[in-house]
Amino acid sequence: MADARPGLLSVVATPIGNLGDLSPRAVQVLAAADTVLCEDTRHTGQLLRHLGLDKHTESLHAHNEHDRVDGLVERLRNGAQLALVSDAGTPCLSDPGALLVDAAHGAGIAVQTVAGPFAAAAALAASGLTALPFAFWGFFAKKSGQRQADLQRQLRPGPEGPMTHAFYVPGRDLVEVLADVATVVPDSRVCVARELTKVHESYLRGTANQVAARLLPEQLRGEAVLLVEIAAELQPAVALDVAELVRQAKTGGHDRKQALAALQRKTGLSRNALYALWLAADTPGEHP
Ligand code: SAM
Repeated sequence: MADARPGLLSVVATPIGNLGDLSPRAVQVLAAADTVLCEDTRHTGQLLRHLGLDKHTESLHAHNEHDRVDGLVERLRNGAQLALVSDAGTPCLSDPGALLVDAAHGAGIAVQTVAGPFAAAAALAASGLTALPFAFWGFFAKKSGQRQADLQRQLRPGPEGPMTHAFYVPGRDLVEVLADVATVVPDSRVCVARELTKVHESYLRGTANQVAARLLPEQLRGEAVLLVEIAAELQPAVALDVAELVRQAKTGGHDRKQALAALQRKTGLSRNALYALWLAADTPGEHP
């Protein structure tokens, strides 16, 4: 028989390291829920026990979310009070949950958010880099070639000025990822924000190569947000035909090194990318 209460889906943010960041409202909502949907029932079980809550938990993760959505929406239709959490931070942001939230809205179920930690926003706020506008891209591709291709498409300035791009990086991948960022945008400011809200919280700022050179072996553990600020001056890279600029420099008889250095500043592209365009530039009768 249907419950007299209308169903409610609460999207509840949980700490990204420091339990003190769990809001009193999050505790209230978790306490009031019939069921807590979580990525890992053992992990969330520990949090609930820490709060003194004896709650029914069920798993909802990347591999079963698709199959579970219809059943969960049916329960919400019948008055279920479901709380959705992830292992850390805000569900649905580089975490599962978005399919359920979308389906709940689609079925006319009430949805509420219990706002709280989000690692990308926490990093941005404490980095000193341009915070508005910003873009959040989640995790990088696993392979370097794909990462560089993605970065070429992703790293853009904002429509009217600089823009910062936020990525999630497990500490062990930092060196490889920074090398790719250095290849694509060698002069851009980056910030590696590590272990946010935890004892070893730290911020390393500089170009990707400078930051990589300062990383200590123990900083390759744990979790990090990588922020890349793309300066407004890089905007011409989007609008201009860079190959044409390179061709003009070459046919104009400019010194290659000086011309490529100037184009690097103007477009933000790497020396290697510009050199490849120089070699490919069509200048009959001339050789690189
Ligand atoms: N949904 C979460 C949020 O709201 O930020 C993120 C979950 S995602 C699966 C985990 C990634 O978030 C980590 O690999 C790391 O890049 C980032 N992250 C989570 N906690 C962090 C912390 N305390 N410090 C730095 N980065 C963190």
